[in-house]
Amino acid sequence: MSLAENMEFNQPFGICEEDCCGCAACKAVCPNNAVIMKENRENGFLYPAIDEEKCIHCGKCVLICRRIHQEHENTFYSKAYAATNRDDEARFRAASGAMFEAMARAVLRSKGAVAGVVYTKQLKSAEHVLVQDSSELPALCGTKYFQSDIQGIYREIERFIRETDQTVLFCGTPCQVRALKVFAEEKRIIRNLYTADLLCRGVPSPLAWRKYLDYLEEKHHKKICAVKVKDKEKGWDRIGVMITFEDGSRAYERWFESIFERSFIQTNLAIRESCFSCPYKSIHREGDLTIGDFWGFRNSHLLERNMGTSLMMINSWKGEKLFQQIREDIDCQESTVWRVYRGNLPAFGPVFCDRQEREEFWKLLGRGKNLEEAVNTAAPYSKTW
Ligand SMILES: Cc1cc2nc3c(=O)[nH]c(=O)nc-3n(C[C@H](O)[C@H](O)[C@H](O)COP(=O)(O)OP(=O)(O)OC[C@H]3O[C@@H](n4cnc5c(N)ncnc54)[C@H](O)[C@@H]3O)c2cc1C
Repeated sequence: MSLAENMEFNQPFGICEEDCCGCAACKAVCPNNAVIMKENRENGFLYPAIDEEKCIHCGKCVLICRRIHQEHENTFYSKAYAATNRDDEARFRAASGAMFEAMARAVLRSKGAVAGVVYTKQLKSAEHVLVQDSSELPALCGTKYFQSDIQGIYREIERFIRETDQTVLFCGTPCQVRALKVFAEEKRIIRNLYTADLLCRGVPSPLAWRKYLDYLEEKHHKKICAVKVKDKEKGWDRIGVMITFEDGSRAYERWFESIFERSFIQTNLAIRESCFSCPYKSIHREGDLTIGDFWGFRNSHLLERNMGTSLMMINSWKGEKLFQQIREDIDCQESTVWRVYRGNLPAFGPVFCDRQEREEFWKLLGRGKNLEEAVNTAAPYSKTW
């Protein structure tokens, strides 16, 4: 039963399937566990559905959804920096300049906990988990470029804060940060919550990601045991996907030539429907801090090691406080929000996709075509980019 099929559920929510970003806050506030996050078979994204037998019609799911989507407002107080972690190993683990790891270590040092994303089910999915020990941190480092499952993290964060009265750092996409903040306000735990939102052009489907892994295994006739997107072994200017197989061998492909990147960045075929009208793509940010890739950053000693440069926007006093705690661990140079914006337009404004191409893409994947065939057939022009 999808959101669209279940009209009784759909109507009071006030948003349609196309606007649902999959934040699962409706599930987190349900007192009777009546909301289930279900995978849409066609596109692999999670959507909520109601178990009518459990629903007590309290309306909490509706109210939180409305607050998340309709009362969205932000302050605009942002300072911008280009920044890199001083620890080369941390930078190598990370997708950009390892700002996440710098912040996470600072929070763990002060006995807090960190919520970030790990791969699960042998790389086939990703979810937010909460860690309290720095030995668990490496699994959270490195960006996973498809939508993470966030449904379990709300209550875990609430429990941790209530039991310890310590700080939690949550890092995720802007819609996830927005949803968690609304939840935390309702539960009166917001004081202990620090948030970092990623610059995000849109999230690809876990199904497209799984199809990419299948495609790679088919191509190389081997089983994959590890994948690193935005691998920096050949340098930041030649970032790639490093694939490790069970027999110990490895393969590398340039990120900007990989079929997954084409389904995601060049064509937007694989991203979630709600991302096309994302209200959080703005210079008004949701997180206390915002992190991303500082594309277009030039002529600076920060680029010397060719290992990725982050942008960091500081959006609140909490963001400023955390930034001060990591100053010793990072090299940074003040910049402007305008420069961040100019180098990263798809993360601040709309991205587009031809509707017919998109439908064709999902149809082809559903009919068993592999990712390369589906992208090349649905959007043949992307091959020449
Ligand atoms: C789908 C997606 C689209 C993005 N688009 C852009 C863009 O257009 N422009 C840009 O500059 N930057 C974009 N980013 C952000 C950027 O690629 C890096 O994730 C960011 O700079 C953090 O890098 P890092 O080196 O600090 O840390 P890393 O170690 O690479 O980050 C790890 C942490 O990031 C968070 N994270 C990782 N994967 C996910 C996920 N799937 N969902 C939610 N949170 C996750 C988790 O907290 C994780 O623990 C995007 C990220 C994602 C996931």
